[in-house]
Amino acid sequence: MSGAEKLNRLYALDRERMYLSRAAAVLHWDEETCMPPRAVEERAEQLAVLEGLAHEKLTAPETGELLRDLGALSSSGVELPLPRNTEDAAGVPAGLPAAAGDFLRVLSRDYNRAARLPPEFVRESARAEGLSQAAWVEARKRGDFSMFAPHLKKMIDCAGKKAEYWGYGGSDAGGSAYDGLLDSFEPGMGEKEISALFDPLKKRVEVLLKKIAASPKPDTGFLHLDYDIQRQREFSRELLDGLGFDTSRGRLDESAHPFTTTLGFNDVRITTRYAENDPMSGIFSVIHEAGHAFYELAVDPQLKATCLAEGVSMGIHESQSRLWENVIGRSRAFWEGWFPALQARFPARLAGVTFPAFYRAVNAAGPSLIRTDADEVSYSLHIILRFDLERRLISGALSVDDAPAAWNAAFRELFGLEVPDDASGILQDVHWSMGSFGYFPSYALGNLYALQFWKKCRADIPRIEQLLIRREYAEIHAWFKEKIHVFGRRFDPAELLEKATGEKLSAVPFLEYLETKYADLYGF
Ligand code: ZN
Repeated sequence: MSGAEKLNRLYALDRERMYLSRAAAVLHWDEETCMPPRAVEERAEQLAVLEGLAHEKLTAPETGELLRDLGALSSSGVELPLPRNTEDAAGVPAGLPAAAGDFLRVLSRDYNRAARLPPEFVRESARAEGLSQAAWVEARKRGDFSMFAPHLKKMIDCAGKKAEYWGYGGSDAGGSAYDGLLDSFEPGMGEKEISALFDPLKKRVEVLLKKIAASPKPDTGFLHLDYDIQRQREFSRELLDGLGFDTSRGRLDESAHPFTTTLGFNDVRITTRYAENDPMSGIFSVIHEAGHAFYELAVDPQLKATCLAEGVSMGIHESQSRLWENVIGRSRAFWEGWFPALQARFPARLAGVTFPAFYRAVNAAGPSLIRTDADEVSYSLHIILRFDLERRLISGALSVDDAPAAWNAAFRELFGLEVPDDASGILQDVHWSMGSFGYFPSYALGNLYALQFWKKCRADIPRIEQLLIRREYAEIHAWFKEKIHVFGRRFDPAELLEKATGEKLSAVPFLEYLETKYADLYGF
């Protein structure tokens, strides 16, 4: 086989793998949105078969051989540096798709991540994960951490082993096990880099929250009356349409937990949930998930059906959703554009509410027990707490049995709140029950990336406020498409940030944004 034929064979194998994963994603979407409840057991089996096939495709010996032949992996399986363009890539002849070098680099990483895990370990962890999640649901319902503790120990054990198989944390490996886990969500980001960002972030957010706590609280009562669900649905559709979400390439549905899933190049689906006494929750979920969808829908068509055709990392993905939800979606200019439409949907509830009162209410900030209810100021502290606990759980510095007390103590220190029970404390999030250690920091990193991108976007589009007031988003979409979305996974997060903004990751633009916005809102 010539180099070109080998590369084409790899593209074909990767496409089959991607399509199997997409088919599994359709089944997942169906499970969360409209599947009848008794289908749950067989659906789990169907998913296991499809996901198993996708895993086999990715880890097939043929994939490894082709990657070695094309110079992407060494004979011992180490990922080799590859030039960016096909023309220069080792062993890859000219005239092939421009992103071939990136394709080989990213596929090698995916291949190694999957192929280094022994099949027996993968099966065993999947089984343990299933049991752990079921135990977590029950433990949370009863507020009884002891029911979940043995499963959490098992999940920590699996995570440590996984990192070691990947080449982290073992006796002869570099970096900590937690570094390996972080790297799988945010390539290139380790414990030290994250601490260096989070430490100053924590200090300045704490100062800001103290100032907010000392100021008069906005009235939010009018947002917690009954708001007709059907009207909420209608407003969400109007909003989504206005934001520029293309319903010929996506859908909005309802699920217990809002999410976005990519089912194909022209099929990105989002969900939300509606609560009668909390209309803004459904609305902000729609805006958040639309931010994820805009990213997935704007990837370069040339990358279609390859491992490059999706967002590069959890952190960059969250930067897009949080930008839309908070930075744009909770801004004065945005609601100057949309408040009249919302009032028109709910005249009985909002006709008497002034715009400044509404703007203050949707930006109310203060301590809360539950991460997913937190405002954009205190949110980072929820993440920093989890980051600190999970790195110590993984390193063994904190035992599982001591974890609830450590959680409650940290909560008291950060928020001045007593955690009444484990269900609204350490048991509130699903992540650890699934073995997803290293995932939480992405949420806070997303805020930091978002403000760095936004600062540059505003500098490039000086009349951005007027555009927001007029509900014209095309230029903003175009900016993000050109600077970030179009590349899919071609550039690692740090590279992408530097290409788009000329800067390295920093908490400063995010902090400056918060300090300016909340000083104005709370009048200090
Ligand atoms: Zn999100």
